[in-house]
Amino acid sequence: MTAPIRAEKLTKRYGDHTVVNGVSFEVPAGSVFGFLGPNGSGKSTTIKMLCGLVQPSGGDATVAGFDVERDGDGVRRSIGYVSQSFSLYGDLTVDQNLEFYARAYDLDLDRRGVRKSAVMSITGLAPFAAYTASTLSGGWKQRLALACALLHEPRVLFMDEPTAGIDPVARRELWDLLFTLAGEGVTLFVTTHYMDEAERCSRVGYIFEGDLIALGTLDELRALQDVNPPGTVRYKISAHDVMQAFARARALRYVRDVTIFGRDLHIVADASASEARVHDDLSASGGSVGQVSRIEPSLEDVFVALTRARGAS
Ligand code: ADP
Repeated sequence: MTAPIRAEKLTKRYGDHTVVNGVSFEVPAGSVFGFLGPNGSGKSTTIKMLCGLVQPSGGDATVAGFDVERDGDGVRRSIGYVSQSFSLYGDLTVDQNLEFYARAYDLDLDRRGVRKSAVMSITGLAPFAAYTASTLSGGWKQRLALACALLHEPRVLFMDEPTAGIDPVARRELWDLLFTLAGEGVTLFVTTHYMDEAERCSRVGYIFEGDLIALGTLDELRALQDVNPPGTVRYKISAHDVMQAFARARALRYVRDVTIFGRDLHIVADASASEARVHDDLSASGGSVGQVSRIEPSLEDVFVALTRARGAS
């Protein structure tokens, strides 16, 4: 069976600027695909091509079985799309916003009633049906946007940074909701800048300057040679003065790479350097360091390593 989202060498050029450069991937039914990359790297353009809103310059893609170039209408009928600037009507109530979108989707009277109740129940919005949309918190506004996008029962849902600017609890709750939808067979394609969210996805893709430089599960990406060079280990080191510890770690002969993550350092060192040796050497060079512990690469480590490897090549 064809995957609900499939892109093959999908490309977009504006003039002589290639903003999406031959990306290929598939998203299986009922999975959550996390699409990441720095600003301006081509995420929104890729989503817009997949939603039939922007014509590709090359390659092809199908969504829900429809060719994005030849059958944009078929694509748009079959998907939900929550963009960064999803338009809710602030002076209308939750119920009136849903009514507006249900009519826009051409649902008949009976179906409108059934689907409005269903999406309010899925998103937990029922108690707020009479609230004016502008009075909702950021997290609940996003739930309303999601509810509107689900009215016509799409099997594929695209979400462009759905959690930008909402608080951590609301973020987590929205993600729980997305996983519930995936459990019911909906296929989700989600862009995010949050690594914790990306680590929860079934698979992730990382696009950098239009190139898809990473694609796979977290474990697959961790195992890449550029991320985990043979003969190396990765340590996390907590330090009181992280900037000073950063400089001292870089000076150690057996340290190949150092990155700061909050109040910790992540270092890639020759496998011959034990935790105790790293701890002693850093302490001996002045300043105190906390525990040195061996870690698996985080997703952020993966992206940092792959971006550097690409820069080096
Ligand atoms: P992201 O979503 O990752 O921030 P975008 O897909 O929005 O990135 O943009 C990728 C690149 O394409 C950027 O350099 C942007 O300026 C350029 N771009 C996007 N849309 C257009 C357009 N309509 N015309 C020209 N350039 C565009």
